[in-house]
Amino acid sequence: MTAAADCFSEFSGPTPALTAAQEVLRRLTRDVANFPVPGVLFKDIVPVLGDADALGAVVGALAELARGNEVTKVAGIEARGFLVAAPVAVAAGVGIVPIRKAGKLPGQTRKVEYALEYGTATLEIQDDSVRGGDRILLIDDVLATGGTARAAHDLLSGAGAAVTGLAVLLELSALGGRIQLGPLPVCPLLVV
Ligand code: AMP
Repeated sequence: MTAAADCFSEFSGPTPALTAAQEVLRRLTRDVANFPVPGVLFKDIVPVLGDADALGAVVGALAELARGNEVTKVAGIEARGFLVAAPVAVAAGVGIVPIRKAGKLPGQTRKVEYALEYGTATLEIQDDSVRGGDRILLIDDVLATGGTARAAHDLLSGAGAAVTGLAVLLELSALGGRIQLGPLPVCPLLVV
């Protein structure tokens, strides 16, 4: 399957940056059966992160998307989302909002509980990490059932931000996660 090219280029299909990112994701993403629990086919992106050209291709494609969305910030979801969102923020010339698991952030926070493909969790942001009027591209590694992204979206929009879309390296289409996100644009580099 191809990526949702309309997220990246409304009129002309995949850009060279998107095509390069798709090539490295196809080549370097590793499938790990029964991790972290039996029945889950885990998409391991560590080989993508460990290759300078591959990491650059992924970051380049997402930074192009962030610039096209005219965002004021990107937000990364702990933990693998941080690894991608931070270099995307630098490349796009914006700051980053860390969306963390419960109990990691000091000061005034807001939190949302949600269900995972395996288990449950809570996500949290600092109240003053988002301002009304911020336009934020949400970034994670994988969209699976969509519960994590939904919770992250709700946190950001509850704090007054406009979430311009969810960008992920991989969308696991069989799990139907984008349904959880309603009208929010879902922008996977690659759909598998
Ligand atoms: P979900 O809430 O089900 O969409 O799960 C998304 C989060 O869990 C992401 O932050 C992913 O890092 C992780 N995740 C869930 N399923 C997988 C999978 N099959 N392979 C890799 N990561 C996954």
